[in-house]
Amino acid sequence: MIGQLIFGVLLIASLLLFFINAKKIYRNIKLGKAVNRFDRPSERIKTMLLVAFGQKKMFKRPIPALLHLFVYVGFCIINIEMLEIVTDGLFGTHRVFSFMGGFYDFLIYSFEILAFLVLTGCVIFFIRRNVLKLKRLNQAELNNWPKTDANLILIAEILLMSAFLLMNAADAKLQSLGDPHYHIAGAFPISSYLMGILPDTASSLVLIERFCWWFHIIGVFAFLNYLVVSKHLHILLAFPNTYFTRLEPKGKFDNMPAVTAEVKVMLDPSLPPPTGEPSRFGVKDALDLTWKNLLDAYTCTECGRCTSACPANITGKLLSPRKIMMDTRDRISEIGKNIDKNGSFQDDGKSLLDTYITREEIWACTSCNACVEQCPVNINPLEIIIGLRQYAVMEESQAPSSINNMFSNLENNGAPWKYAQADRANWTQQ
Ligand code: SF4
Ligand code: SF4
Repeated sequence: MIGQLIFGVLLIASLLLFFINAKKIYRNIKLGKAVNRFDRPSERIKTMLLVAFGQKKMFKRPIPALLHLFVYVGFCIINIEMLEIVTDGLFGTHRVFSFMGGFYDFLIYSFEILAFLVLTGCVIFFIRRNVLKLKRLNQAELNNWPKTDANLILIAEILLMSAFLLMNAADAKLQSLGDPHYHIAGAFPISSYLMGILPDTASSLVLIERFCWWFHIIGVFAFLNYLVVSKHLHILLAFPNTYFTRLEPKGKFDNMPAVTAEVKVMLDPSLPPPTGEPSRFGVKDALDLTWKNLLDAYTCTECGRCTSACPANITGKLLSPRKIMMDTRDRISEIGKNIDKNGSFQDDGKSLLDTYITREEIWACTSCNACVEQCPVNINPLEIIIGLRQYAVMEESQAPSSINNMFSNLENNGAPWKYAQADRANWTQQ
């Protein structure tokens, strides 16, 4: 009975904490500016099914994609087992769904195979990251917490899957000893190999089985709450993020509504001039971004596929599109904490541009869209970079001299080159 009570309290506390933190992230995303991503629902569903559910873009690199698929599918499906664990925990039963007979055996059999695949996948990922030191998983922006975060997640999954298999092994051995509480149920293709390393006495086996059961369930509750403060949030956000993908061609830039309104008035003086406080041109801080940019930031898995395809990064420039997304997430989280503390956002003297992202980074971008193309969850770092540049140019008139020269040429000659319009056809005379 005490066990059931403790379990109930833990279940409610972990769900409550998860809900509170998830609500804060939802609030932070809604701090972004409006953008319509609710049109063309059938195209959006198709994109989500292909990219998030089918992991289409992951398969550009088949081996890590396959390992990731094991971890993703395995982890999701094994958590069906949570239904039984929660029911057993609340009602003090044991393997409550075993009344399903052969189908139950099939389920436990599949869960064990998947648990083994998840375990193998995580061990390989851990080795790639820490022993083989893959370049994109060991770049500067991952130093300190992001690296620890990634390792913690892998270690947690390895421990959770090991506890699951060890629990089943102890259970199977207790079943074979004829313990009345541990009735015959389930099929154990992997954990049966572990039975040999377990003790033979029923009391020790019960201890191991109970320890692993509690470890597994407390681990899952902890993992649920860790999700919301880690890059693993992509498990949940990949679905809405791909649904709300920008569907226009990648190379098409959006007009800025404030600029469009002003130009229309200049071209047609009969139109009423725009009223109210002029809005900021471009992006200085995270609050100038759209909610979709902020959703992108919270969805980023820090995989670095964008950075490894970025020509600026490859040629040694400071820019890393992964860092752009990580900085955006850090800044909007900081703004969220500021709001929690003060009731509304109070100027803290910081901004996304300059405090987090330098001018050198934004001007290193070639706007090639390779990062957007590569991202397995359809994140768009370029939109943020362009917004920051728009602010630098339109609000501060600050751009690198090479670009200022081009602006002068456009203004004076109607073309980016340094020739008068009248001389444009001169080359035909040569
Ligand atoms: S668009 Fe910019 S950030 Fe993205 S890959 Fe190209 S150069 Fe890098
Ligand atoms: S933006 Fe996309 S590709 Fe880049 S690190 Fe994040 S998830 Fe990976």
